[in-house]
Amino acid sequence: MAWRSSGSTNEELVEKLCLNNMIKSDVVKQAFLKVDRGNYAPSSPYADCPQTLGHGATISAPHMHASAAEHLLPTLQPPAGSGRPSSKARPTRVLDIGSGSGYLTHLLAELLPADAPSDVSVAADGKVPASVVGLEHIEVLRDMGERNMSKTEEGRALLASGRVRFRLGDGRKGWVEPGEEEAGWDVIHVGAAAVKLHDELVQQLRSPGRMFIPVEDEEGVGGQHIWAVDKDAEGNVTKKRLFGVRYVPLTDAPK
Ligand code: SAH
Repeated sequence: MAWRSSGSTNEELVEKLCLNNMIKSDVVKQAFLKVDRGNYAPSSPYADCPQTLGHGATISAPHMHASAAEHLLPTLQPPAGSGRPSSKARPTRVLDIGSGSGYLTHLLAELLPADAPSDVSVAADGKVPASVVGLEHIEVLRDMGERNMSKTEEGRALLASGRVRFRLGDGRKGWVEPGEEEAGWDVIHVGAAAVKLHDELVQQLRSPGRMFIPVEDEEGVGGQHIWAVDKDAEGNVTKKRLFGVRYVPLTDAPK
C-alpha cells in the first residue's frame, strides 16, 4: 500500500498514510499534521511519490518519510521503563544527512522527546537542549531547506533557537559539529544511498542509538536496501536489512 496514499491536502495525505498503515503511531501522525509538506515539495506536495528538487536531489515519497519516522521513533522517544537515558540527562541529538528539502529535518525536530524543554529557547549556558542537524553538500539545497523551514513561524522559531541547524558538508562518513567533537548522535537518518555502511558513521552513533540508511546492495544489479543499524547501551552493533528502495546516491559535491 506504499504508493496509494496520495491526497489533495496535507490532512488527507496523512489520513491515507495512516489508513495504509505507513503511519502507525499517533505521535508520528501529529508530527506529519504539524509539518505541511506543501512548504517543502516544489510540486504535487500531497502525492505519495518523490518530487525532483533540482541538483540531482529529490524529496522522498511521503510513505518513505513515514517509514523513516516510525523506525526512528523508539530511539527519539524511548518508551518509559526502557532503561534509556532521559533526554533531560542527555539532550537528544539527531543528524539528517542529505537534508534536501528540509522536510524530514523539520519532522524529526517535531519528534524530539516530549520531556525536552518545550519552549524553543537556548538554555542559559548556551547549550541547545535537543537538536537536529540537517546536512547538505550542495549550498543551494542547504539554503533551500532553511528557506522552506522559514515559511512558518514555528519553523523560524526552531531555527532561531538552534534546535534545528542546517550545515554544509559531506556526510558520507558522518558529521561532527565544531565544539561537539565527542557528542555523537542518538539518531542518524541518511536520505541518499551509501555505497557501503562506513564504520566512521556507525562509530558516531551513541550507545544506545539508531541509524536508518539506504545502502547499495553488494552484489547484483544496482539494488538498494534500507538498513537499520542499532547500537545498544553496551555498544554492541546490530545491522538489519529492512526492505528494497530506490534513493539517489550519496556523491561527491559537484565542482
Ligand atoms: N531527505 C531529503 C532527501 C533529498 S535527496 C528530502 O526528502 O528532501 C538526497 C540529498 O542528499 C540531496 O539533497 C543531495 O544533495 C544530498 N547528498 C548527496 N550526497 C551527499 C553527501 N556526500 N553529503 C551530504 N549530502 C549529500
